[in-house]
Amino acid sequence: MNFEIKDHLIGSAEFIESPNNSERNCSIDLIVIHCISLPEGDFLNSNVIDLFQNKLDFNKHSTFETLKGLKVSAHLFIKRDGKIIQFVPFDKCAWHAGESSFNNREGCNDFSIGIELEGTVDQEFTDKQYETLKPVILKLKEEYGIADIVGHSDIAPDRKVDPGPHFNWDKLND
Ligand SMILES: [Zn+2]
Repeated sequence: MNFEIKDHLIGSAEFIESPNNSERNCSIDLIVIHCISLPEGDFLNSNVIDLFQNKLDFNKHSTFETLKGLKVSAHLFIKRDGKIIQFVPFDKCAWHAGESSFNNREGCNDFSIGIELEGTVDQEFTDKQYETLKPVILKLKEEYGIADIVGHSDIAPDRKVDPGPHFNWDKLND
C-alpha cells in the first residue's frame, strides 16, 4: 500500500468526499482514534460511508433513528480488511470529535485528524487494521508534526467510550 501523503490525501486511500468539513484555522497536533459500525457489529455494508455523505437511509435499521440530522465525518475510515477510505483532506477539519477537550483546549476538530476504525467497542480489531493504521500514523506524524494520539473517550469522557478496551495501543508502538 502507498501511504505517501500528497495534497493532504493518502496515496492508496479511496477518496469519497464528505460535505461535513470546514476550514482549518490552526495547525494539527493530535490524532483521535474512533470506532464505528452501522448497525453496530455489522461490517458488510456501506452505511458508514453513507452517513458521512449525509446519504444514510434512516429507515434501514431501528438504531439509525438517533443519527437523524447528525452531520459527521472523519478524515479516514479503516475497514476490517485494512483498506482506507478518506473523506476529508487533512488540511480541512473533519467533524468527528464533537464537544471535546484536550489539554484545556476545547473543540478538538480544529487541531486534530480523526481516524475511524470499522468495529465496535466490544471486539478486537483486525491485524490488517493495525497493519494499515501504524504506517498511516507514522506518515501523519512525519507530515504534520503530530504530538499526541488519543481515543475519542479521552477527549469526550462523559459522552464517548470508543475505541474501547479492545483497542491495543501497544501495537502502535512495537
Ligand atoms: Zn468516536
